[in-house]
Amino acid sequence: MKKILVAISFFLINFLQANNNAIDLFQLYKELHSNPELSYQELETSKRLAFILEDLGYEVTKNVGGNGVVALLRNGKGKTVMFRADMDGLPVKERTGASYASKKKVINLEGEEVSTMHACGHDVHMTVLIGVAEYLYKNQSSWQGNLLLVLEPAEEVSGGARNMIKDGLFTRFPRPDYNLAFHVNASLPAGKVGYLPGWAMANVDSVDITIKGVGGHGAYPHTTKDPIVLSANIINQLQTIVSREIAPTDPAVVTIGSIHGGTKHNVIPNEVKLQLTLRSYTDEVRNKTISSIERIVKGSAIAAGLSEEFFPIVEIKDEYTPAVFNTPNLVKQVEASFVKAIGKDRVVKVSPVMGGEDFGMFGRVEPIIPTALFWLGAVNAQLYEEALREDLTLPSLHSDLFLPDAEPAINTGIETMTKAAIDLFNNTY
Ligand code: ZN
Ligand code: ZN
Repeated sequence: MKKILVAISFFLINFLQANNNAIDLFQLYKELHSNPELSYQELETSKRLAFILEDLGYEVTKNVGGNGVVALLRNGKGKTVMFRADMDGLPVKERTGASYASKKKVINLEGEEVSTMHACGHDVHMTVLIGVAEYLYKNQSSWQGNLLLVLEPAEEVSGGARNMIKDGLFTRFPRPDYNLAFHVNASLPAGKVGYLPGWAMANVDSVDITIKGVGGHGAYPHTTKDPIVLSANIINQLQTIVSREIAPTDPAVVTIGSIHGGTKHNVIPNEVKLQLTLRSYTDEVRNKTISSIERIVKGSAIAAGLSEEFFPIVEIKDEYTPAVFNTPNLVKQVEASFVKAIGKDRVVKVSPVMGGEDFGMFGRVEPIIPTALFWLGAVNAQLYEEALREDLTLPSLHSDLFLPDAEPAINTGIETMTKAAIDLFNNTY
């Protein structure tokens, strides 16, 4: 109890300025940035944000699908607008040199000590959500409906959205008419926002393949079935899925990120292990890619003279992330609001990417809820110009050097998202 009281007074001092009770958002951002927690371990972060939202006057429900937090503001009859931010950091050791850089180390779920960093900008997302919460609470006279603010845990491992839905996100609370989210963008200047109707981010599948053989002496290969040679064949054959089997107009990626087999120069091993990441937009391409992999590995094993008990094992990991499809009509409406909020020059159309975002899961429920993810520019404007001029590569998301230009990014996020929400509530399109 004492601990909670100390924590509460600490937050009051830090986030609530004495004069007008406004939340010091940049201070909150720095606190979050310095204290990243890993997926499934977002205990302090969720507690901290739940407290701020409760203090603002929201109806807060904790532990929705793990560490998830749902904050609801019922403001009369009308539409329900959901806005999501994710909370988890990454096992990355920060090298940005910022005064508020994370020095935090935690014990991960495997029991190892690792450094943590908000290298995906989820600290920006959370701060924008709190800013949106504060603005829409204080301006309730300008809109009517239900505002549903969702703090999602475990986004980086693709579990959070699924767990929150399973735990009743769309049944225990008013069902959203619209789902919205931001993700920071590491190649868009702070102060700008990006939009894209249709497919925006990819299905992500992780696949493990165990290629079996019959090991033996390296000098007597004829007495073995060499899984290393078989792996080499399989790796080459897998390249033909995207180039020969999927239509050139359908995006797909098959990347083999890891291969492990053998222990010594002159020993032919019994098995080789491969780890793959697969990317696609449509379910058809996803299913076709998986079935092609299964066919190729089995066929290659047969060609190598292996019997059924030695056929490779293909394991599709269940940490599947579904593609993000941005409902075109909703994107059009929100884009119009963004332009009204910050002007045409600062609202840009972006290209689709093959990265993944757990947010796609919120668009996969039946009946479908119109869903759209927008990009929030995060690169320091001067740095962006420099990079353009000198053809430099900017640190990407998940890089230990990725440091958002937080203040303009957060302000732009709040300005645009509050305008979009109010317009959706008031149906001003
Ligand atoms: Zn990420
Ligand atoms: Zn992210």
